[in-house]
Amino acid sequence: MTYFRMWLPTLLVLALAACTTTPPEQRNPLATWVPSANFNTRMPVVVVLHHTDQHSVQQSLDTLRSANSGGKVSAHYLIGADGQRYQLVADDRRAWHAGPGRWGTITDLNSASIGIELDNDGDSPFTEAQIESLIVLLADLCERLGIPPQQVIAHADLAPTRKQDPSRFFPWQRLAQAGFGVWPRDSDGVPPAGFDAWQALAQFGYPLQDRAAAAGAFHRRFRGSDALPAELDAEDARILHSLLQQTR
Ligand SMILES: [Zn+2]
Repeated sequence: MTYFRMWLPTLLVLALAACTTTPPEQRNPLATWVPSANFNTRMPVVVVLHHTDQHSVQQSLDTLRSANSGGKVSAHYLIGADGQRYQLVADDRRAWHAGPGRWGTITDLNSASIGIELDNDGDSPFTEAQIESLIVLLADLCERLGIPPQQVIAHADLAPTRKQDPSRFFPWQRLAQAGFGVWPRDSDGVPPAGFDAWQALAQFGYPLQDRAAAAGAFHRRFRGSDALPAELDAEDARILHSLLQQTR
């Protein structure tokens, strides 16, 4: 009897937990519920980097817990100019940072990504402390969640017609030297005859519905410029050739 009294509360707790793991409202009435214990949370496969376009961490913490002019927004992380990290949404939850867009075959980036906001007004260089802090966080996320390190992209990459962040000041080469994102290598040489730079841009991941906008996002990220013509030149082809060598 003593033994039973000791175990009864535990058994009740376990039984309750088993019932509540997947609430009835999450079960599809079109099928018979035959639960398996063999699952975990869904995993992101991309990291999207942003700049806040605001003037303080506190302002951004407020926005990311309420709304901006376009409605309710959030991100998984915010990193201050001093390098301090804030987490606003758990890694296994869908934050609202990417909006409509496309990267490769992924069409719902919010479902597939971790969003990281960098406290920056869009017209200033990013601080060393902030980039060092970001690299530490990226190492943790890619290791712990199994995100391919090369799949660290800009918000503008997936939504080139709507977004320009992070700005041309973001140090993508530095990030690639730390092992995140990707950067062209001189050793890959020049592309072969007949190389189609636009096809390569799409193959790398950029959406081409608006080619001028896609070229703009590409130039900002890989040439640090917002002022190049909205087309792809020989240098772009060389860069894309190298990027594809590294990501195939
Ligand atoms: Zn953004």
